[in-house]
Amino acid sequence: MDDIINQMPRMEDTLSPTPTRRVQRVRYELRRREVQVARVTPLGPAFVAVTFVGDDLRGFVSGGFDDHVKFVFADEAGEEVRRDYTPRRFDAAKGELTIEFALHGHGAASRWAQRAEPGHRAAIGGPRGSMIIPTDYDWHLLAGDASALPAIHRRVEELPAGARALVVLQAEPADRRLQASAAQVDWHWVASPEQWLASLQRLPWPAGSGYAWCAGEASVMARARDVLLVERSHPRVDMRVAAYWKRGASSFHEEMSE
Ligand SMILES: Cc1cc2nc3c(=O)[nH]c(=O)nc-3n(C[C@H](O)[C@H](O)[C@H](O)COP(=O)(O)OP(=O)(O)OC[C@H]3O[C@@H](n4cnc5c(N)ncnc54)[C@H](O)[C@@H]3O)c2cc1C
Repeated sequence: MDDIINQMPRMEDTLSPTPTRRVQRVRYELRRREVQVARVTPLGPAFVAVTFVGDDLRGFVSGGFDDHVKFVFADEAGEEVRRDYTPRRFDAAKGELTIEFALHGHGAASRWAQRAEPGHRAAIGGPRGSMIIPTDYDWHLLAGDASALPAIHRRVEELPAGARALVVLQAEPADRRLQASAAQVDWHWVASPEQWLASLQRLPWPAGSGYAWCAGEASVMARARDVLLVERSHPRVDMRVAAYWKRGASSFHEEMSE
């Protein structure tokens, strides 16, 4: 773990046929890209996919499902605001980048997405780098709340045939969207952080070596890290727990397992 590679990713870094079970860090050149909204696709009452285009997207790279970009936009007062978002999908042929926004209603980014229309302008910074988590673990735990749904869907979409994933998501019934996958995926949907933590404690895990990935609200993720490390004795090296937001705080991001 913890390799710093100051170069663009090479194919063999991500597509090695031999099982490496070694998380690799990849660094990219940091750039700000001016973009505009091409289309807005409602995904349900509390989620919207916004697809951006722009010449600056040429050369955009995102090698890891839990990469993040800085989404830069003007709020209602015209002030520049920056928030972290998952590059859900990049179509290099069309030059289209899609981000899926949870419409939680309490912040500037959520409000911006709620009002997004074709032609609206914004900018994208990064991603600065990727953590490439091997797909050849015996199983993958992918767990979180609605803020982690885009990253989890991206991972499920990218996992190859033969992989096995256990997904545990806290989301409103209307947001419980399944994602097609070549892998075998077991979906567990829950309604509250307590139920989500109980699932982490109790769900039987497949045999063999697994990678546990969790993201969501900070206080819940702190408890999740303890459940994984202490109660389930999961190796620290085979897990990543990240706070994607914090109740009562703006623009919060913290890695909790490194
Ligand atoms: C690496 C990373 C990737 C992320 N990817 C995505 C993504 O793809 N899609 C996505 O929707 N979010 C994603 N997030 C979460 C997103 O960055 C935060 O939700 C962010 O705070 C939203 O900004 P805002 O301006 O709407 O609210 P802020 O101004 O940051 O916060 C205002 C208030 O809203 C509350 N709040 C913030 N987020 C939420 C939420 N999700 N649910 C309920 N209340 C909230 C805060 O506690 C605060 O009280 C990601 C975060 C990280 C760190």
